Amino acid sequence: MRKELQIGTFEDLLYHYPYRYFDRKQITKIATISPTAEYVQLAGTLVNIFEEGEGRKRRLVATLYDDTGRIELIWFQGAQWMKKSLKENERYIVFGKVSFFNGIPNIAHPEIELLNAETTAGGMQPVYPTTEKLKTRGITNRSFAKITQSLFEKIKQGDIPEVLPSNIITQYKLCSRYAAIKWIHFPDSEEHMQAARYRLKWEELFASQLMIARLRLQHTIQRGWKFDKVGDNFNDFYHNHLPFQLTNAQKRVLKEIRVDTATGKQMNRLVQGDVGSGKTIIAVMSMLLAMDNGHQACMMAPTEILSQQHYQGVKRLLDKMGIPVALLTGSVKGKERKEILKGLADGSIPIAVGTHALIEESVQFKNLGLAVIDEQHRFGVGQRARLWAKNEIAPHVLVMTATPIPRTLAMTLYGDLDISVIDELPPGRQEIKTVHRIDMGRAGVMEFMRKEIDKGRQAYIVYPLIEESEKMDYESLMAGFEQVKVWFPVDKYNIAMVHGRQEAALRERNMKRFASGDAQILVATTVIEVGVDVPNASVMLIESAERFGLSQLHQLRGRVGRGAEQSYCILLTGNKLSKESEQRIKIMTSTSNGFIIAEQDLAMRGPGDLYGTKQSGVLKFKLADIVQDTAILEQTRIAAQQLVSEDPGLTMPQHQALKNILLQQAHQSQWSKIS
Ligand code: ADP
Ligand code: MG
Repeated sequence: MRKELQIGTFEDLLYHYPYRYFDRKQITKIATISPTAEYVQLAGTLVNIFEEGEGRKRRLVATLYDDTGRIELIWFQGAQWMKKSLKENERYIVFGKVSFFNGIPNIAHPEIELLNAETTAGGMQPVYPTTEKLKTRGITNRSFAKITQSLFEKIKQGDIPEVLPSNIITQYKLCSRYAAIKWIHFPDSEEHMQAARYRLKWEELFASQLMIARLRLQHTIQRGWKFDKVGDNFNDFYHNHLPFQLTNAQKRVLKEIRVDTATGKQMNRLVQGDVGSGKTIIAVMSMLLAMDNGHQACMMAPTEILSQQHYQGVKRLLDKMGIPVALLTGSVKGKERKEILKGLADGSIPIAVGTHALIEESVQFKNLGLAVIDEQHRFGVGQRARLWAKNEIAPHVLVMTATPIPRTLAMTLYGDLDISVIDELPPGRQEIKTVHRIDMGRAGVMEFMRKEIDKGRQAYIVYPLIEESEKMDYESLMAGFEQVKVWFPVDKYNIAMVHGRQEAALRERNMKRFASGDAQILVATTVIEVGVDVPNASVMLIESAERFGLSQLHQLRGRVGRGAEQSYCILLTGNKLSKESEQRIKIMTSTSNGFIIAEQDLAMRGPGDLYGTKQSGVLKFKLADIVQDTAILEQTRIAAQQLVSEDPGLTMPQHQALKNILLQQAHQSQWSKIS
């Protein structure tokens, strides 16, 4: 049990919550199951239990009937064990997802429970998460309920002490912790079950907001370098080398950064701006500000390719000013690396661009004053913390993200940062036209692309590359490349290809061929997802678009529409789409607003696998769901801020229990690296 569900103690068992309940009051009659029904709860008598099929197709089938009709129940796994544990002619309560086969309903792998005195005793019976493996060992939902129940017979109110201060309990009308835990397992009414869930969600979100509020407080008292001069570098660049006029949004954000860095406290700021909103120039000018105040600055990106591009971009901008810029990534080795390390240590290199190689132990800056982190969501929270662990006085931190983050997620992920938003695109941009085409229309798509290219434009063709099937994807990329050559003969067109399996040098060479305009077409995997900037590219063709997530599609689309020409994004898919893919495509073709897309993405996928946060544990809640529970999230945020302002160190007696919870959690998660 410990291995399967991480339950090792009685306490763990108390916190192993049911995820639903058998409620005797909500039983559907079999005859009334509607063809559109999804989940149903039935009660009836079980008959005709038998195994059928051979080998891997072997399965267990049984029939459940009530006074209105009958339905088939099927098990493909654990058939042996189920067969032993089910009894013919007994009454059962059954819950599961109905499917229809030739108009006849059946349920595969239902939850099933004997309908005896206990289950019929009015209340709601808990249903616990369990695994097939545990079930086959006889640890069923019933056994969980039994152990938990006997545990509760021995537990008194005092055994589950309150952790929230009483003023909070009163103000937000929460039930006690003891009641909540008791009721979540054995609710005697729907209201109590709801009260229990509400209270426990509240506690979870409160704990995380409290952690964030304290982190934030820590930032605000953290001493920082005082950038109080706007000097030669900044001014020279602004007056003589700026390639365009800054947008008002860019000006505002720069001002926020200048104000922030001049206070003598450490800046922790997130700059949020949709793809193409012009974040790079903000980074560069902030780095010049650091230089003007006698400091070094660095800029980090999550991948080698992006670092290289940033490096080239920054160098290009600063070239005429003769400012040395170094590139440090994992693949910079030997003598070159040594020299860079030396330059960073003695301060002769004022600006460094690179991957997280920049924050490795071996890298010492003479006086790092500012760290810019691009595309933050790929960097762990812990990595961000490493930056300031290195220095006596922490460098200012500027985080830049092109992925618009829904407010709720931002409150949780970046609640400790101040946020700037670039809510304006540079002038002259035209809305990208996004269309959906199916494979059968490929010829038309290629024809269209040819016309654009013959007008002097360039085009991307992107293939999915998803880890699990990397080999297959690689093969389809190669096959696609051959196909593209058929449509665009090599004697007339230059095609470059980049993908993750290439040597960095080759990849860079190919990328350059496209960036310089020498190649008209770039065939690529999602390595180009973020950051790449080729303003002359006006067509983005995404192959197997149904395999991409919304945010990813939006990122890819952001690669075009960067110049003055009308740009196009073509989503090519198979003929048949799942409901979700169809919805994603529809959202893409109907809006280009990154914030709307991010909200929709969050709603469709849940926060779990977004932004690489799965591993970080920051968003791991047992009950709370930051999409559904925004109201609670807002409450807990306010309550946490208030509590921290009254008792920053959590030293008051009524806050000790909370402090312990935070310590425990810090122990389990990455947050520990921060505080
Ligand atoms: P982001 O990193 O936010 O996606 P970039 O910094 O790469 O965007 O900028 C996108 C493109 O817009 C680049 O080609 C850049 O040179 C250009 N750009 C940025 N700011 C402006 C501006 N104020 N006016 C015109 N072009 C701009
Ligand atoms: Mg960028």
